[in-house]
Amino acid sequence: MRRRNVEVDDRTAGMTLEALRCRRLGHSWIDLPIGKARRAELAGRGLSELIVQCERGTLRMIETVDLETWEVVSKRPDGGYPPGYLVPPGSGRLPRAEARKAYMVRRGLV
Ligand SMILES: [Zn+2]
Repeated sequence: MRRRNVEVDDRTAGMTLEALRCRRLGHSWIDLPIGKARRAELAGRGLSELIVQCERGTLRMIETVDLETWEVVSKRPDGGYPPGYLVPPGSGRLPRAEARKAYMVRRGLV
């Protein structure tokens, strides 16, 4: 089979393999416990938190839940996004197909 010349999206250059894998497959979240003191502090303000960690990488998100409406009122990465997770700022959203391509090329699968 002749190897095709594959052009990879430049925006993936600084991304880790884990980040490309998560963009390709979606995250696999697991719940982490929150401390009693934190839970009590939040409950006093009518809030709670869900802390989730991706099994594949280092991304950890904190969702703040309003205990009246049960809506997520804020969702943020714990400690910011890990290095190599995002495409360069302002460069738009990376389509899954581009993440898949970059992943397969980098792994030598094509
Ligand atoms: Zn992930």
